[in-house]
Amino acid sequence: MAVYIFGHKSPDSDTVCGAIALADLKSKLGTAATPVTQEKINPESKFILEKYGFSVPEIMTSFAGKQVMLVDFSDLAQGPADLAKADILAIVDHHKLGDVTTPNPLECWIWPVGCSCTVLKSMYDFAGVEIPKNIAGIMLCAILSDTVIFKSATCTDKDKEAAKALATIAGEDNLDALGMEMFKVKSAVAGTPVRELVMRDYKDFNMSNKKVGIGQLEVIDLAILDDVKEALAKDIKVLKEEGGRHSVFLLLTDIMKEGSEILFACDDPAILEKAFGATPQNGTVWLPGVMSRKKQVVPYLEKAFAG
Ligand code: MG
Ligand code: MG
Ligand code: MG
Repeated sequence: MAVYIFGHKSPDSDTVCGAIALADLKSKLGTAATPVTQEKINPESKFILEKYGFSVPEIMTSFAGKQVMLVDFSDLAQGPADLAKADILAIVDHHKLGDVTTPNPLECWIWPVGCSCTVLKSMYDFAGVEIPKNIAGIMLCAILSDTVIFKSATCTDKDKEAAKALATIAGEDNLDALGMEMFKVKSAVAGTPVRELVMRDYKDFNMSNKKVGIGQLEVIDLAILDDVKEALAKDIKVLKEEGGRHSVFLLLTDIMKEGSEILFACDDPAILEKAFGATPQNGTVWLPGVMSRKKQVVPYLEKAFAG
């Protein structure tokens, strides 16, 4: 039976490159596996795949009765609608443990590091399998993306070590330049539909039984978003109503200034004050030093929602 490997909704480069790498490793260890994505990949991932000669994985949305492996998530909300009916053989992730459960034992690699591809690097080493040059390239790019070129609060020494080793295999000697090349692609928003920008790196969470959406756009200069900011603010209000959400937050992250502006559509704006100790002005709030949704935003909102 074919095994399908995929990451979370609104696929990012870690989910896409991680699924390709895990499929390569598993196939070499005797389990034929196919990397797929739940939705269309983003421009940054497309750039990475093209650069290292990979084709874009097919989109697949239904997995009932199929054997699957998950990369970069373990939350039902971030999976396909029928995920509970799939047979989950493995999880490779670097987020807090989600609510996925299995009737059978599974292979589970969840480490507190900055990127799933850092975990995957250790999986290759553990299995004694050599990492192909082009796979090393996409894994390296995923680490640069997830850790914002090692600047994110989520970045660990393990990520830096893995990136260094992968760079050697891939023949990349200037990681800052490679990272900036990627983030320039990521920053290009002109001509992109507003909803696509909102959903580009978007996740729904369950916080104290309230549906809370958090999106993030990482750019090399917030001024790039000046022309679309109003439209983004409007669209997250629509998104909130559409999905019966309590709140939608959109982080506009400036990776050079190292901080995030938060746009919000929220039934209870006091939650921002509670979570971050910052008072919104004109419908937005600037949080200096905040770049990581996972480490610097989600836990504080969860606490604020809990009371
Ligand atoms: Mg991810
Ligand atoms: Mg990741
Ligand atoms: Mg990210």
